[in-house]
Amino acid sequence: MNRNKTKKIVVLATGGTIAGLAADSDQPQNYKAAQVDVTQLLDGVVPTGLHVLTEQVAQVDSKNMSFAVWQSLLGRVAHWVAQDEVQGVVITHGTDTLEETAYFLQTVLQPNKPVAITCAMLPANAPESDGPANLKQALSWVQLRGSVGVSVVCAGQVHAGHAVQKSHSHQRNPFTSQAHVRHPDSLQIPTVAQVLSCTHWPHVALVFNHVEADGRLVRTLMAHDAPDGWVVAGTGNGTLHHDLQAALLEAQEQGAHVLRASRCAWGGVQSRDADVLPHAGLLTAVQARVALLLDLIARRS
Ligand code: ASP
Repeated sequence: MNRNKTKKIVVLATGGTIAGLAADSDQPQNYKAAQVDVTQLLDGVVPTGLHVLTEQVAQVDSKNMSFAVWQSLLGRVAHWVAQDEVQGVVITHGTDTLEETAYFLQTVLQPNKPVAITCAMLPANAPESDGPANLKQALSWVQLRGSVGVSVVCAGQVHAGHAVQKSHSHQRNPFTSQAHVRHPDSLQIPTVAQVLSCTHWPHVALVFNHVEADGRLVRTLMAHDAPDGWVVAGTGNGTLHHDLQAALLEAQEQGAHVLRASRCAWGGVQSRDADVLPHAGLLTAVQARVALLLDLIARRS
């Protein structure tokens, strides 16, 4: 391994289970996320001689991740990767929405230095907590030459940030990733400055196709608090119940942007001649939602 030990690594903490605490450490499933601060997380984890700077950007359970935290995080990552003396950035994050943050950061920033997001499935005070090992691996990853861009480092594996998804709810290694995932050509990407100055984020709703899916939910929301965009997690190759499809076409006519993904974990949507609504290729529904949010921000100015 070709390492550079003279430069600094920045660790930005946002909360999650990695910073969680259980009231009784013998029952680690009963815990509260986002309790431990970043300096405590790094206790005993940083190798001697490694220069680490820390910032507590947020302290949230990632189920509650917000656009405001995304803006703070994007601002801090953009700041630090632009510093010559910084070799890379490690972010601690809850696993639940990690894939959305990873897609967001990679798409907007496309950093030319390593940015490793890491996490844990067990709280910090569980006897077998996986957080310290994951943090150590993330610190190692960002010291490797060539590991540029946003990655997710967890349980001994490294995933590309734009291609990762949480596909298991409780095993120690909850992530998988698909090859060849790319941002759809039809969707624009805003600049970092556009995202940081965004005071009113677009509203992009996510709806599923399923047995007896109909257009009621879409029509009701369009009539009362119309979203700027809809992502639909279709069945199979992005197929939609005829009434849901009709309602989404109506929404499109009313000015909402609509994007089709698949509710299948793998494979996305492939084009067919009979397509009437645009699709998001290999993106999962939640990745497609981030992609559409960004597109709508980019189109504003
Ligand atoms: N609810 C936690 C979070 O996403 C779960 C985790 O970190 O694994 O913050």
